[in-house]
Amino acid sequence: MLRPRLSQTPLVAGLVEHECPRCHRAVELPFGALCPSCRAQIERRAGRLAHLVAGVTTAALAVYAMIRMPDDPRVRLMVALAVAVWYVLVRLTVQRAARELLP
Ligand SMILES: [Zn+2]
Repeated sequence: MLRPRLSQTPLVAGLVEHECPRCHRAVELPFGALCPSCRAQIERRAGRLAHLVAGVTTAALAVYAMIRMPDDPRVRLMVALAVAVWYVLVRLTVQRAARELLP
């Protein structure tokens, strides 16, 4: 049998914010959550930043690989795959970090 709660403080999961903590627009949100427009704005900014960083670093890697690449076609294929994987991994990593860190 559960004991009655001693504290009169409500659980955090039951708290409701009446304004977005980022844009201060009046909405009903779970505690600590952002409004949909703020989340969409952060997601767009994170996507643009990730695309830019991944593009620049992938271009630099591709130029370096073309300078240093031997003539073997199997090596060229592997380098092309590595450059593609680099783009995907950098984009995902930067997007995740930007989503968490952007104000
Ligand atoms: Zn907001």
